Amino acid sequence: MAAGDLLTRRVAGYPEAEPPWPLNVFATTGVGMMYALTNCTLYTGFEVLTDHALLIDGAYIRAILPPADLPVECDRFDLQGLQVSPGFIDLQLNGCGGVMFNDAIATSTLDTMHQTNLRSGTTNFLPTLITTSDADMQAAIAVVRHYRQQPPNGVLGLHFEGPYLNPQRKGIHNGAYVRPPEATMVAAIAAAGPDIVKLVTLAPEAVSPETIRTLCDAGITVSAGHTNATYDQALAGFEQGVTLVTHLFNAMSPWQSRQPGTVGAAFNYPDIYAGIIADGHHVHFASIALAHKLKGDKLFLVTDATPPAGTTLDSFVIGGQPVYYRDGKCVSAEGTLGGSALTMAASCSPPLYRLQPGRASVIL
Ligand SMILES: [Zn+2]
Repeated sequence: MAAGDLLTRRVAGYPEAEPPWPLNVFATTGVGMMYALTNCTLYTGFEVLTDHALLIDGAYIRAILPPADLPVECDRFDLQGLQVSPGFIDLQLNGCGGVMFNDAIATSTLDTMHQTNLRSGTTNFLPTLITTSDADMQAAIAVVRHYRQQPPNGVLGLHFEGPYLNPQRKGIHNGAYVRPPEATMVAAIAAAGPDIVKLVTLAPEAVSPETIRTLCDAGITVSAGHTNATYDQALAGFEQGVTLVTHLFNAMSPWQSRQPGTVGAAFNYPDIYAGIIADGHHVHFASIALAHKLKGDKLFLVTDATPPAGTTLDSFVIGGQPVYYRDGKCVSAEGTLGGSALTMAASCSPPLYRLQPGRASVIL
């Protein structure tokens, strides 16, 4: 395809699908106004280009074009074969760089997570607060509200993973705080709105339809996770407003022949999005490939990362219990997986390619 076709292609629903495309401001610090990145592999979101340059003007991408068509006056940076892609967005990040949001609900924690993310190509994320007290949830709302008033930063809003979960599928979450929804706290989350709270993971069978509707009506995305919902209960959740499932396969009722569960419901309903942890420990790579065949672009990578990500830490604490990082896994003393040490870039690692022989690019 000619570069001109690429530049004029419009994506439905995306008003900024034509150049110039804005860059994150923190990505341009210290760089001159007009320059080009050359000799690189470009992932555009539509295709993979190896014979094109990226023309950047200040805080905007002006064009993707053959190097011969670059303006003569612009500076050129030879990337010597490096890969260039849009920044990763991580919708489930508990911590990284040695910090855990649950342990230190503060803007300094978000700063550390953001700076750690930038080193591996993640530009935006949802700090994820796992099951904890109402007081901690209120503190997280206040911290994110304050942080988001100080651009530029990479925080798109909060992800509350819990506490309205099914105790049978709580995983590493602290069971002492897993509880049914309480109207005042649900109202506080709804009042915060989607600028502050982007995503709430709950077990649809453990909450009332009103709880899901209250959050959805406020513009907050509701995801089914840590759930033992039957197939029918999962569908009821979808009808009430659930549009996503949290870490597909993990901490949810599995797909079985006579009991399709939450996994079967997510597979059978094409509009439902699904996050997945691609570290090879939470989900077998063959299951990831199968999920991708069934869900297509509705499947997305998350890290579910914890403090060891981006560090050499070998232990940390979740909900008061120690978790050890060994052989690529984060596990409690009982062997329960407690998040990952992944980065988004590592999620696009060679094992995923090997499942798709002949394909030149990432499969997700
Ligand atoms: Zn989880």
